[in-house]
Amino acid sequence: MTPLRAPLEIEFDYTRSLGPVLTQFMTALAGRRILGARGADGRVHAPPFEYDPVSAEPPGELTEVGPEGTVVSWSWMPEPLAGQPLAEPFAWALIRLDGADTAMLHAVDAGSPAAMRTGLRVRPRWSATRTGSIRDIACFEPAEGPAAAAAAAEPDGAAEVNAGMTITPVRLHYMHTASPGESFYLRGLAEHRLLGQRCGVCGRVYIPPRGTCPADGVPTHEEVELAESGTVTTFCIVNVGYPGQRVTPPYVAAAVLLDGADIAFQHLVLGCDASEVRMGMRVRAVWGESGTISHFAPTGEPDAPYESYARYL
Ligand SMILES: [Zn+2]
Repeated sequence: MTPLRAPLEIEFDYTRSLGPVLTQFMTALAGRRILGARGADGRVHAPPFEYDPVSAEPPGELTEVGPEGTVVSWSWMPEPLAGQPLAEPFAWALIRLDGADTAMLHAVDAGSPAAMRTGLRVRPRWSATRTGSIRDIACFEPAEGPAAAAAAAEPDGAAEVNAGMTITPVRLHYMHTASPGESFYLRGLAEHRLLGQRCGVCGRVYIPPRGTCPADGVPTHEEVELAESGTVTTFCIVNVGYPGQRVTPPYVAAAVLLDGADIAFQHLVLGCDASEVRMGMRVRAVWGESGTISHFAPTGEPDAPYESYARYL
């Protein structure tokens, strides 16, 4: 049977503090100034360092550099990716700003690779909006040519500047191909059936099936349908909230050992107060949309004796 394939997307915002030095750097960008830091050896680093590479000391007062600079090295981006500074082909360049001794990485909107060269003089094209982030520089552009339209947008003096914190969107998009065992399991879920595989050597039943027995190292071929009921072997109560959380804390994530299985799997236990969940509690799968288990809920049966699940903890 053909393995299943589906696009998967993992996406989240990474929010963090910029710290004292980069907060000054980003705040200055919102004011259309670029700052660097002078090190113990007299060299000016732009962007500024947080700790001097020579003395390991934090920088003193930051110093303004640029805004024009010189391309030190570059590479052409023929097919820009989503989220990059420009939608049209551009150059990633190391740019040494006037007054600085180190180079910073940014995009150069040169139009074509023929217009790019080491030694090219460039100037920042400021973003029309000011946010207190590196995105306040929309990109750099050749200093000789006419200024692009966006460069004419002057700071409006009333921008929302949230320097001090930065949000980095993280996005990973890929095509996942399920293994034959996983495909078999997923097709079972679509029919509200829980399918595992039994090892022909030790007799253990694995769900989800991995296609091999980790104890014996042999392929597993025998398919087994398992009950929807099982036992909570161990659990934790989630008390911490986070953006995008679908269940309101406190709630329980548990290891559930399905009847007839030899390995527990993680799932939510809902349908009762979190404080009522306990080791040995009997639970049953509650099906959700499109062939998924929404969660497990208590069956009301007497608890399973500890000996019945002790070796699966
Ligand atoms: Zn085995």
